[in-house]
Parts: sequence; C-alpha cells; structure tokens
Amino acid sequence: MEYLIIFILGIIIGSFLNVCIYRIPKEESILYPPSHCTSCKGKLKSYDLIPILSYILLKGRCRYCREKVSIRYPMIEFLTGILYVLVYIKYGVTLETIKYIIMVSILIVIGMIDLDTTNVYFKTTLTGFIVAVTFLALHVYMGLPVINYIYGSIIGGGTLSLIILITKGGMGWGDAEICSVCGLFLGFKLTLLMLFLSFIIGSVIGLALIALKKKTRKDYVPFGPFIVVASIITILWGQDIITWYLL
Ligand SMILES: [Zn+2]
Repeated sequence: MEYLIIFILGIIIGSFLNVCIYRIPKEESILYPPSHCTSCKGKLKSYDLIPILSYILLKGRCRYCREKVSIRYPMIEFLTGILYVLVYIKYGVTLETIKYIIMVSILIVIGMIDLDTTNVYFKTTLTGFIVAVTFLALHVYMGLPVINYIYGSIIGGGTLSLIILITKGGMGWGDAEICSVCGLFLGFKLTLLMLFLSFIIGSVIGLALIALKKKTRKDYVPFGPFIVVASIITILWGQDIITWYLL
C-alpha cells in the first residue's frame, strides 16, 4: 500500500517533470500557462492530466485535434514512479529518501533535456545545487559531518573539468556542473563510483552506437545522460557495489 502511494506520487511528479523537460529548453515558464496540447494549444482538462491513465483512456491522442501524444510522456511518468519506489525500498522512511527522490527528479530533467538538445541548462544544475546545499545545511543543523559531500563535489566537478581541459571538447562544462552537483548529493566514495560507472556506460554505449552505425566517431554524443544513469545506479545500488567489490 505504501509503495502504491509512493508510486502515485512519483507519476504525478513525473508529469510535472515532463513539463520541465519540454519547456525549459524553450525558455518558457514551467508554471504558466497551464498544460495544453503542444499541437492545437487546446487546454487540457483536469481529467486529462491524470498521469499514464489519461494517455491510455485517450489512446495516446489529443482530445481536440486527435494529434498523437508522444509515448515518452507516460513513460517518463512511469519511470519516475518506479524510481521513487526503488529509492523508498532502499532508504525507507528517512531524510535520505526525500533527498534522493528530489535528486532523481532533477536528474531525469537534466538527462532528458541533454538527450533532446545536447545542452545542460544552468537553471537545472543550479536547482540541484540549491537542493543539495539545503540538505547539507540540515546535516549541519543535526550535527552530522558535511565535509565528505564537499569532497564529493570537488572530485566530481574537478575530474570532469580536468578532462575538458585536456581533451578540449567532447564533454562540456555542463557535464562538470552535473558531476559537481551529484558529488554534493552522493559524497566522496559514491561519487568516485558514479564517475567510474558513467565512463564505463559512456564507452559501452558510444562503441555500440558506432558499431550499429548510428553514429560515427565524429558525431557528438551528449555525456550528461550517462552521468544521470550512473548516478541513479549509484543511489540505488552504489553501496552494494562497493561492498561487493571490496570483499
Ligand atoms: Zn491538440
């Protein structure tokens, strides 16, 4: 029952994340105007805004103009719901759960926008930074150490900055921003794992894309989505991977 509540919360937030993913690159407000069909501008009624369900009931089409609605919208809602449940299973009723579901939400927006536009928007990383700092302030208030997270941020942002300076291209400063924010959430050890995983995932997918002739060596493949996937894996299974590796 509690899982269902968390899942429903996830798909509702997921529906808001869709709005962010669609509007932030267009420099539109994420709050106004209310949701509308992107094709005919028809205003969506409240019963059209039920995550996933509305999509199924309307058979993936707009109520007014019958234009197809991308399957991506319900998929992102579903993904957000599932990730919220997984974070809750992992961390239970703790502050960590709240921290990580917010982090996952921000990462979904950053990753999807990077996939769509190959851009990382400062607004999104800044939001992550503010959230992470807020949780660190809570740590300080509760008398918990924070230095580990600051080291995480330095190693995350620092490693990427170094790569950017050495390779002069490939990765962008937006990627360094993402890693430094993730470091602030994850702390030192988990950030190292996240960096490691993002390079592994990046090379495997990069090589696969070249092998499948979807991309050539000269094409630009955004690195942000790999950082996002690596961070989510680290949130969910990072501690287990480290324990398993060290044993
Ligand atoms: Zn329409």
